[in-house]
Amino acid sequence: MEQMDEAFLTELDRLAGINNLRVLPEVRQNGKWIEKEGARMLNLSSNDYLGLASDVSLKQEFMSEIKEEDFLFSSSSSRLLTGNFPVYTELEQLLADTFGAESALVFGSGYHMNMGILPAVADGNTLILADKLVHASLIDGIRLSAARCIRYRHQDYTQVEQLLEKHHTEYSRIILVTESVFSMDGDVVPLARLVSLKKTYSNLMLYVDEAHGIGVRGQHGLGVAEEQGCLHDIDFLCGTFGKALASAGAYVVCRKVIRDYLVNKMRTLIFTTALPPLNMAWTRFIFSRLGEWTERRKHLDMISSRLREAVQSNGYECASGSYIVPLTVGSSERAVWYATELQRKGFYVLPVRPPTVPEGTSRLRFSLTAAMTEEDINLLVQNIIPRTV
Ligand SMILES: *Cc1c(COP(=O)(O)O)cnc(C)c1O
Repeated sequence: MEQMDEAFLTELDRLAGINNLRVLPEVRQNGKWIEKEGARMLNLSSNDYLGLASDVSLKQEFMSEIKEEDFLFSSSSSRLLTGNFPVYTELEQLLADTFGAESALVFGSGYHMNMGILPAVADGNTLILADKLVHASLIDGIRLSAARCIRYRHQDYTQVEQLLEKHHTEYSRIILVTESVFSMDGDVVPLARLVSLKKTYSNLMLYVDEAHGIGVRGQHGLGVAEEQGCLHDIDFLCGTFGKALASAGAYVVCRKVIRDYLVNKMRTLIFTTALPPLNMAWTRFIFSRLGEWTERRKHLDMISSRLREAVQSNGYECASGSYIVPLTVGSSERAVWYATELQRKGFYVLPVRPPTVPEGTSRLRFSLTAAMTEEDINLLVQNIIPRTV
């Protein structure tokens, strides 16, 4: 070992000592199943909410209709140089039309999106109000921006109102940043309530990350914003393609002037190679069919409420209103033990520990997909260990 590496090793040992060491698991996916070390388990840790990523017939249909000009594994350039293939414009037009918006802009990943938009649009005269539990990519975007930021208590909109009342005259722009379905708690944000604040505060903009809502919520799968009737009231309506949409990349739906601004100012759009055209074509294929999957959404809703009820009736508090269902046990040690136990019984669930979640709220995080049957969920429910006090 190089002498320089000793400090790294010490830190890794410390993490291992408090049950927080991370390793990359060697796994193989097969439909709703996952194989690890020779054992086949129900995959309860995927974001493939509609079961599209594992749907072979969809892939075959796509392959049979793909155009030669889209069959490219690289765009070989940033979109601002030579990487802006027609399929990019087509996808963005499809997004804008479907959402009924002026424009849309596609990015390499949700991480690029969140890390890039806020530094581009938030200057020294901007106040960012962000939920305490927003995703790491949003926190990094906030850190890179010149704005002042206040993190409000998770989903505490009374506090948001107080902060707005107190600060709205001090800044030319206030951007409220939230997810629509929170990735660790699975709770859903009352977007309509946030939209109503815009009537009182004309300098308020809403930035909503629908990473876990797009595809799954709303009649046509357009997310929580569709479900709550506020598709046209969110300034930065963001989402990712890597979860329910079974692809990769991300998008913002916004006014044209904001799109033009981002094309000029957003570093994670300008200084990165565009996603491969093949990938864009697949995203377009999936997105254009989103309206068809109502039955999958209904089924997912049904099995999700079944699991949420079981978690609660076993004595665990659970604020989830979605297919992300946490079972909060407290200590990291307990979470690791419990996850191992369930894996042994054929359920691939992972412990989530600090720093991903606050100290003392280590949990198992179940995430369900429409590919699971009622029977799968019943078996899981039978294996939940009641909370002991
Ligand atoms: C997964 C996720 C992201 C990151 O998206 P990627 O496309 O995976 O980079 C951003 N925001 C939230 C809330 C997420 O859950």
